[in-house]
Amino acid sequence: MSYGKCGQCGAIQATAVAVCDACGHTDIPMVIVLASTVSGRTVEVRTTMEMGSRNLSALADPDLRYCSPAQFRLERSLTRGGWVVYPSSQAANPTWLNGVEIPELGEVVHAGDSLSIKGKALMIKVCFS
Ligand SMILES: [Zn+2]
Repeated sequence: MSYGKCGQCGAIQATAVAVCDACGHTDIPMVIVLASTVSGRTVEVRTTMEMGSRNLSALADPDLRYCSPAQFRLERSLTRGGWVVYPSSQAANPTWLNGVEIPELGEVVHAGDSLSIKGKALMIKVCFS
């Protein structure tokens, strides 16, 4: 088991815990930014949200025609220590993360990761602000 130090109060604790036991501080970014690699436009997400053709329309990406109304779900997860992307069972085409279909249990996303529809359409870069 490894231990970490809170970035805010300095308390020593298990790094597996994303929230400081002493002060409640967490390093998980408040905002996740999705950027279209085609248009360069971005969408900011600040809370757990189902993402799809409607709330991704600001990306102005022509590939949005392949995007379902519910394509994937983003969750700011304290227990998993980051933003997690989950597949949507209602998506006509599966969402991929870094070239692999997202599993049912979801995956933690990191800055620079790529989201797409089957690795072919709607290429989105993940970053944080
Ligand atoms: Zn702390």
